Amino acid sequence: MTEMREPIESGVPDYVQYLHPLMKKNYGNWKYHDRPRPGVLHHVAHSGDQIWTVRAGTPRQMDHYTIRNLCDIADKFGEGHVRFTTRSNMEFMVSDEKKVAPLVDALIKAGFPVGGTGNSVSVISHTQGWLHCDIPGTDASGVVKALMDEIIEEFTHEEMPNRVRLTTSCCEINCGGQADIAVVVQHTKPPKINHDLVANACERPTVVARCPVAAIRPALVNGKPSLEIDESKCMCCGACFPPCPPMQINDPEFTKIAIWVGGKNSNARIRPTFHKLVVSGLPNNAPRWPEVATVVKKILSVYKEDGKPWERMADWIDRIGWPQFFEKTGLPFTKFHIDDWRGSRSTLNASTHIRF
Ligand code: SF4
Repeated sequence: MTEMREPIESGVPDYVQYLHPLMKKNYGNWKYHDRPRPGVLHHVAHSGDQIWTVRAGTPRQMDHYTIRNLCDIADKFGEGHVRFTTRSNMEFMVSDEKKVAPLVDALIKAGFPVGGTGNSVSVISHTQGWLHCDIPGTDASGVVKALMDEIIEEFTHEEMPNRVRLTTSCCEINCGGQADIAVVVQHTKPPKINHDLVANACERPTVVARCPVAAIRPALVNGKPSLEIDESKCMCCGACFPPCPPMQINDPEFTKIAIWVGGKNSNARIRPTFHKLVVSGLPNNAPRWPEVATVVKKILSVYKEDGKPWERMADWIDRIGWPQFFEKTGLPFTKFHIDDWRGSRSTLNASTHIRF
């Protein structure tokens, strides 16, 4: 086993030292790349060097036995270099084409699907979930595993009109991602305040300042300093919960899941776009979230069938229009799609016209 590195107290270590030697040598000097098969990238450098990258999906939350298993595969069938993508894929780099097939076979045999490149559904990026986050309303990383189990064929095949990026978020306010399809927690009731704990656990001015709609006021409850909420103003965002855990917003019944579509971060082909809400109020039904999976699979299958080559989800919806989107996917358009938040007047979304 290689020697453990010294812990670094701040910042990440310089990644260049961990690059495959061919990548280091040809850094910034690549001529082109292609994809010999789903899950395999082939890069050719101006120097003539070639490198093959095999991408395997992981269940994201991995114990160190699983990671060691993957590293053993990298040592035995690869060239001892791996890297993780932002979507929890693990990539193995080799400099000889003959090593690709045995590496792919070893990964599949060990239970790690190979895919996620090109016009496929890559592994879902997500926020931390119940294991690591201190404010999660759902287990975003659990949703990843449950959903990917159901759409694994779309990971191992490149059959979508364009690449499809999915995200899941365990709260509404912090690291939530936007994507072609995003699964985001949705609180539907204002926080319940535990007045006995506020004075000891919260800095009240910070909590008051945190509310985006000025719905929180200092109050004296049972002789103790506490807070109160103007529920007619509260939009259930949950922003007051992280600095003040007694403002309990997570609820087994009223914390729901919403689905948003058409978000895109890159500048490729069209500008970046914001995703839009298409389904609200799905039950937060751990551990497999079947209602969420049904909606995501429905949207994916209609997009796959109806999208033209190279249309991203946002392009496709732009072309067919929102009424057609709801008609084709069979998703109901309800009053919850109308943005009735008072601050939305400036976005002109408060009329009965469907405007996203
Ligand atoms: Fe304000 Fe959001 Fe807390 Fe409601 S949930 S009181 S809107 S910070």
